[in-house]
Amino acid sequence: MLGDDTTTENRLRLLQAEFTQYQRRGPEPTGRTATRAEAPAPIDLGILDYMAAAAAEVEQHTRAADWSRPAGPVPEDISRVYEWAREHTAHLDPERQQAREALIYRQGLEHAIAMGDTAVVSKHPCPECGCWGLIWREEAGKAACVNHYCVDSQGLSHAWTLKRLAREHVAAKSAVTSRAT
Ligand SMILES: [Zn+2]
Repeated sequence: MLGDDTTTENRLRLLQAEFTQYQRRGPEPTGRTATRAEAPAPIDLGILDYMAAAAAEVEQHTRAADWSRPAGPVPEDISRVYEWAREHTAHLDPERQQAREALIYRQGLEHAIAMGDTAVVSKHPCPECGCWGLIWREEAGKAACVNHYCVDSQGLSHAWTLKRLAREHVAAKSAVTSRAT
């Protein structure tokens, strides 16, 4: 969907636009306007590496999914790598398509966090207690539960990797879909 910034594709496009352009073209879509004092954003090489690594992970996952059907080259525009991955794995069994969706969804969370939007994790229930309002812990690279009673055997808050949250999210979504059919 155009203008939807919650898909992994669009988040990657936003990252590209935000961090890899020398010149800003007019006001930002968010309503922020560049002031004269604001220097053009330099290309952030870290972000370029980050995006290349994300695309490479999707490519490897897609190629490994079915060696009998070589997938051909990945699109030059790396935000289209997800579309490419779906195209080339659409014939696989539901489980493997779910694994692909979990990977894509996880990358979407990573892209949002890379842009500073750590609140994306709060939109997922805690896999242990079902509470909402997980908090991103940068140093641990995990989303911690805010429920004081939701702790492990050492009394520490349960904390989840993005991979786990993505797996839970995609599994829950597919359960809804299969109930509906
Ligand atoms: Zn919890």
